[in-house]
Amino acid sequence: MEVRQSLSSAISRAADYLAERYNLSSIKDSRAYPAQRKSYIVNIFGAMNGYLTQDDSLIAARNEFSKEVIERFYDVFVLGYIQSGSDESELTGDNEDLAWINARTEEEIGYIKSLFVSLKEAKSSDMTVDELKQLAQDRADAYANSLDMVNSEGKMRGAKNIMLTMVGDDGAESCNDCRKRKGKRYSAKKWLAVGYPPSRDFECHGYHCDHYLVDDNGKRWTL
Ligand SMILES: [Zn+2]
Repeated sequence: MEVRQSLSSAISRAADYLAERYNLSSIKDSRAYPAQRKSYIVNIFGAMNGYLTQDDSLIAARNEFSKEVIERFYDVFVLGYIQSGSDESELTGDNEDLAWINARTEEEIGYIKSLFVSLKEAKSSDMTVDELKQLAQDRADAYANSLDMVNSEGKMRGAKNIMLTMVGDDGAESCNDCRKRKGKRYSAKKWLAVGYPPSRDFECHGYHCDHYLVDDNGKRWTL
């Protein structure tokens, strides 16, 4: 017991030392994303639920959701970007990574407009309060998947010249797009250009196979 205790305290001291010595923020950052995701779900659920089951107006609720997207998308993108070694100060002017996150955020705002059209239909239907709450919860969970992709894209864009290899199981079916890429080792920059899994642009839409990218140490980089 005593040996184990002193060993574990030695390990934790060593980790602290390394973190300080090499200024490793990755340990902290890897915990930060789950917290961001949780807050995102709570807040967008709140916006939808406020409209569906309380007195919030559609416009106020939609604005609340949109504001959350504008802030959170940027935050988790930057989180990934920094985690893979890039600096937020690069995201200025006509930087293409900044252009990507801005365009992706605008795209999401467009989806939210459509979402509230369907929420309005749900509210005027004969759905019960419980069913409306469940609907808000289901939509919040689904929209959190986009947040995962934005965080992942931030990591990929921050990784730049880090070499990544596509690995993983073919799953139920393997499509041409996955077959062409499987086993290939490219820089993160090149993967961004040729497309990486899971991708909606692939024949399999990223759903039927289980491919992902790893670095040379075997660390997983994509969802
Ligand atoms: Zn595929």
